[in-house]
Amino acid sequence: MFDSLRSRLLLSYGILIAFLVILIGFGSFSTLLKNPQLYEAAAQQLRTAQQDLRPRYTLTDLVDYDKTVDRIAKKYGVRAIISAYDGDIVADSGLPEDTDIKLYAVKLDRMAARNEVAFIRDRSNGIWLALADQIDPDTVLILAVRRPRLGVVTFFTSELLRPFLLSGLAGLVIAVLLALLLSRWISAPVRKIESAAHSLAAGQRQLIPLEGPREMKDLAVSFNRMSDQVLLARQAQQELVANVSHELKTPLTSIQGFSQAVIDGVIQSSPDLDRTIRLIHTEANRMSRLVQDLVVLARLEAGQEFHFERVDARPLLMHLFEKFQLPAVRAGLTFTTDIVDLPPIRADGDRLAQVISNLLDNAVKYTPSGGTIHFSAHADSSAVEIRIADDGPGIPPEEAGHIFDRFYRVDSTREKSGSGLGLAISRQIVLAHGGELRYEPVLPHGSAFILRLPLGNSR
Ligand code: ADP
Repeated sequence: MFDSLRSRLLLSYGILIAFLVILIGFGSFSTLLKNPQLYEAAAQQLRTAQQDLRPRYTLTDLVDYDKTVDRIAKKYGVRAIISAYDGDIVADSGLPEDTDIKLYAVKLDRMAARNEVAFIRDRSNGIWLALADQIDPDTVLILAVRRPRLGVVTFFTSELLRPFLLSGLAGLVIAVLLALLLSRWISAPVRKIESAAHSLAAGQRQLIPLEGPREMKDLAVSFNRMSDQVLLARQAQQELVANVSHELKTPLTSIQGFSQAVIDGVIQSSPDLDRTIRLIHTEANRMSRLVQDLVVLARLEAGQEFHFERVDARPLLMHLFEKFQLPAVRAGLTFTTDIVDLPPIRADGDRLAQVISNLLDNAVKYTPSGGTIHFSAHADSSAVEIRIADDGPGIPPEEAGHIFDRFYRVDSTREKSGSGLGLAISRQIVLAHGGELRYEPVLPHGSAFILRLPLGNSR
């Protein structure tokens, strides 16, 4: 029943109001109980007795205290107590069922001095109305009557209950109305977020206006940011599925076509058959590489563990230089290097080698025979910078911004291109190192890829 924010707010207001009404009612009732004006009749009875008795305080019959108190009690219908100032009771007309009255010197003193009707308690916590009067320097006469019970209740029910109930009811109605408005006011921004979340689930972006209390504004900002990310992620996912299916379609179609030709017996001669099977094998390899690359990329994007360690960059780079010498020579390229002594870095050596291999492989692949590749590395105060530059065709400026995207291949190099995943993977690896990988054009033509790995603070 109270599963909505509004009903919970209403309930809490209701409880608060009820609590306040009870508190005020209880407070007024107990103040009322302590108000001597309510017991006017009883107080009057005490005062009359006191005034009647006063002129006789000096009479000798006061000497027999026991008799005196009994007489007073009988005559005025009150309880009479004669007590020493220190609270010691000398004589008490109390009936057998009346328990002793606790009296303290200070209180007695005050009562006698003020001569006002006061409340005192007996030992069984019964409350009495009392008047005290000094009858000689050490002694006090106390006149007391039990606090009449009926008076308070009757006064309360006849005089106070009606206005109390009426104002309570009016207060309750106003409070409930206010509570309704307040709860609506407080829960309105939450409902906006709820409706935006519904839209988001249905794939629509609904911006939440930045209004309402501060916490709600913060929530709206976070929610808007989150919905952007959700939609971007959804879009990226759709693009990925479209790209992957597109990439797989070409080799699959080739494999289907070639294998069908073999089955149909269209290919007769043994060399043709051999060539066709090799083509099928090449296409299958391409698909397998693509799938492997995708798996690697997915793992990297999911934040796969890296094995960071202290890496001496120069030997690693020199090893890669040697590894690519043969392919470069075969491609008719001049491959030069300038790798100075480098400070150690924190890196995952295998992954780093993967990135540099990819960049060198691209340079060899895309630079036409007769070209040059220059592989250099140096360190500055904050990073080790590795540069792989070639004087190949370069990348058109309007396409340069996309080469790190998944599956992106520059149009002019399409027939040499692979899956278009190499640079996307490389960038992920470099980012995980806290580094940076960027492209720079080389003049008059050519490409340079610059990899910066921070010193010391790499994760
Ligand atoms: P691929 O597997 O196609 O090489 P990459 O992600 O490594 O994929 O590269 C993306 C595209 O960037 C390549 O298809 C190519 O068009 C372009 N490219 C990369 N390196 C070079 C380079 N050194 N010279 C010219 N174009 C390059």
